Amino acid sequence: MKIPKVIKNGYVMKKGKESGPTSVIIAGNHGNEACGIKAFEKILPTLVVEKGTVFFVLGNPEAIQQNKRFTEANLNRMFRKASTYSAKIKKTYEYKRAQFIKMIMKEAEVCLDIHSTTNKSVPFIICEKNAKNIVQYFPKNFTKTVSGFGDIEPGATDDYMNLQGKVGICVECGQHEDPKAEKVALDTISMFLQTRGHIKSKKVLKIQTRKHIQMDTLYYSKTDSFTLVKKLDDFYEAKKGEVIAHDGGKEVKMKKDSIVVFAHDRNKKGEEAFLLGRWVKK
Ligand SMILES: [Zn+2]
Repeated sequence: MKIPKVIKNGYVMKKGKESGPTSVIIAGNHGNEACGIKAFEKILPTLVVEKGTVFFVLGNPEAIQQNKRFTEANLNRMFRKASTYSAKIKKTYEYKRAQFIKMIMKEAEVCLDIHSTTNKSVPFIICEKNAKNIVQYFPKNFTKTVSGFGDIEPGATDDYMNLQGKVGICVECGQHEDPKAEKVALDTISMFLQTRGHIKSKKVLKIQTRKHIQMDTLYYSKTDSFTLVKKLDDFYEAKKGEVIAHDGGKEVKMKKDSIVVFAHDRNKKGEEAFLLGRWVKK
């Protein structure tokens, strides 16, 4: 998609008259996830921040223009320590873009990163306990919170913020093509700005109760031929012993009852093929 005129330089900073907290909101971290970008387009022309500072950042402008997830490397894995990356990765557009975004994130206490999913999915929130006071007011479209990504899939914006002792939140607003995703993104931004005190609350925000999932496994394809036995919606509940895929002809069997997220066929060894988690009580 085209870069919206209101944010053509890659980010917009809105500063209130009153001093206050600083937040970052990112859209288009993955270039083919339009809901957050469209929400920016709607909200920015008239938004007046009253308190503190808010940075609205386009994650990956190059990929957005090409309508691709990324151009050379997944931007949302580029936020680990510099020493963990190869020289080749450091030359990529996404690695360089991450360094720029990190500079903005350094100014803020909280980062909200807006995404959508490839698989059929319900909106959900990725965060740790430190985000509870903020995400509890997010729209009721989000039926679950999911934790533990930082340990098994490091390098996302939320992981980066959490490791600095700050708060990182990622929202998955529905499937890429879901027309409702944009509204979910818009409502989330509005509630985020209110809870953070950047704008006055129009009405008293309601606390939502949600189910909670702890992620514990990330499976990388072991061969160039990883094929799911069937298309799996996010949060598919697989039973112990169930075969969900074949990897180089070998069965990929569940060791215990598991919730499957982000499962995709892969034709290259060493790619993220699916994640597993389990229900937990808060
Ligand atoms: Zn994404």
